[in-house]
Amino acid sequence: MTDHVAPERRSEIMSRINGKDTSPELLVRSLLYRMGYRFRVHLKDLPGCPDIVFSRRRKIIFVHGCFWHSHRGCKRAALPKSNVEFWRHKLSKNKERDIANRRNLKRLGWQVKTIWQCELNNPPKLERTLRVFLEGSALC
Ligand SMILES: [Zn+2]
Repeated sequence: MTDHVAPERRSEIMSRINGKDTSPELLVRSLLYRMGYRFRVHLKDLPGCPDIVFSRRRKIIFVHGCFWHSHRGCKRAALPKSNVEFWRHKLSKNKERDIANRRNLKRLGWQVKTIWQCELNNPPKLERTLRVFLEGSALC
């Protein structure tokens, strides 16, 4: 039987199964694309396998779910009412990993920006944030 799903779509489906290409990330990617930016995704050679990579600009964007990455002060990041210790431990590990990845990327000369899931609620503001980050000086 032939696969009636186009290969592009098929690889998108498969990568979703692997936990990548979450929808907030896809939204940011499609916004960036419409803004005219071109980029690479999920570069395994870099610390943390960054979501969106602008090689020439030496810039990286991570798109983080507010809950999984403990967005400080965000209501989406509230701990579940049960198994509190389990979640606290798990989420603090995620946070430590994020901090380490960020530090390592900066050491390698990359500028790193995190876009939070909740920022997707305001596309015009998100677009400004992205443009400021991407067009800003790379010399800092
Ligand atoms: Zn948030």
